[in-house]
Amino acid sequence: MSYVARVLEQVIRRNPGEPEFHQAVREVLESLTPVFERHSKYEKHRLLERLVEPERVIIFRVPWTDDKGDIHVNRGFRIEFSSAIGPYKGGLRFHPTVYLGILKFLAFEQVFKNALTTLPMGGGKGGSDFDPKGKSDAEVMRFCQSFMTELFRHLGPDTDVPAGDIGVGAREVGYLFGQYKRIVNEFTGVLTGKGLNWGGSLIRPEATGYGNVYFAQEMLATRNDSIEGKVCTVSGSGNVAQYTVQKINHFGGTVVSLSDSDGTVYDPDGIDEEKLAYVMDLKNIRRGRIREYVQKYPRSQYLEGKRPWGIPCGCAFPSATQNEISGEDARTLVKNGCFLVSEGANMPTEPDGVQVFLRNKVLYGPGKAANAGGVAVSGLEMSQNSQHTYWPREEVDARLQNIMKAIHQTVAETAVEYGEPGNYVMGANIAGFVKVANAMIDQGVV
Ligand code: NAP
Repeated sequence: MSYVARVLEQVIRRNPGEPEFHQAVREVLESLTPVFERHSKYEKHRLLERLVEPERVIIFRVPWTDDKGDIHVNRGFRIEFSSAIGPYKGGLRFHPTVYLGILKFLAFEQVFKNALTTLPMGGGKGGSDFDPKGKSDAEVMRFCQSFMTELFRHLGPDTDVPAGDIGVGAREVGYLFGQYKRIVNEFTGVLTGKGLNWGGSLIRPEATGYGNVYFAQEMLATRNDSIEGKVCTVSGSGNVAQYTVQKINHFGGTVVSLSDSDGTVYDPDGIDEEKLAYVMDLKNIRRGRIREYVQKYPRSQYLEGKRPWGIPCGCAFPSATQNEISGEDARTLVKNGCFLVSEGANMPTEPDGVQVFLRNKVLYGPGKAANAGGVAVSGLEMSQNSQHTYWPREEVDARLQNIMKAIHQTVAETAVEYGEPGNYVMGANIAGFVKVANAMIDQGVV
């Protein structure tokens, strides 16, 4: 049995009931085989066995009281996966589907993603099965305070620096930071995604969506093409989706869809800046559902319970959640002329969908490369905090563009080096792995 097959078998046996974690590990490990064929040192140092085991997993009780005085108990997690190249870094997700396996998959992916950003950040992820939907601001605040009352002892600006993810936006980061500061009595950069007037970085809210579109532009440039004039589908309607739409519009593309967990809106006229402003108000302030869009813009259609992948498009930007593009969806996209898929979400494409894209030579940017702009600007927020300074918008945006360019170049060159030009999956996994693995070898058996 090969080294990769042995370790995969162990991962499945030792982490029962965690299919998303198995899927993420399989996807990375299977593309690393050529590295082990060329370099025996990684197997000798048991690098894979060490890499698939989180350095630390923290699970804790989060009790809180609702507005009626009833008591609830949620479960909190932080996975401190790897500190080989910097402090643990990765978001917090509040969603009812959260359990250990989801957060381990996300933290594992984060290790490679952060390695690709060119910045010194290790990998982590955390969250809770708490559902912020339908809760009052006061309930969300009490939950966040209770969550941080345990988590604070594991954090620090040089130890572990969380950020947002699904269900954790500016409001939640504010409540979490407030409680951290109160307990520790320190104003430090211990969370990223902070408000602009209390330590946040310009461009951080935009970074994941903008970065994903910059990455797509880089992929298109390899075929002397660009976003201009392209029909694009976007899924989700949260932070990543919103700024993906904005940047596609800046570059002259037309976005014809957005979605949430209930369904999809299809707007053949395109979601321009005015319509996007409406969506931002609907989602970020009124916390409504995407179906309301069709009442405001009656030329659009609402596709109840559907994802956007049946809508013909040239470019697709999945920006909602994991496993939202099945093999069947991938075939439909290709059949309808889609030639670029750039992942704003983490692991949105199921494994057979990935194979469909690779076989059909779709420009396919996997999340750990394409959506790394968010954590990259989080890294820039950490730098600004430690220097007690703020950089102007243009400077952060320019750095983000350079980082996305550098990620694309590293990933593309690695794919060429290993004999599969254009295979960004292989390029991202190998480039991320080699950086982390070499650091682990340098630091000894720890
Ligand atoms: P968000 O603001 O909370 O928005 C999430 C969006 O996805 C919402 O429209 C939500 O719809 C939809 N969604 C969530 N779960 C779903 C499900 N099970 N089925 C269908 N739709 C679902 O979160 P976000 O920050 O934009 O994150 C979106 C994705 O990007 C995630 O995969 C996240 O890990 C990834 N990502 C985020 C960042 C970042 O900086 N925020 C960075 C890198 C990657 P509902 O309102 O119906 O739940």
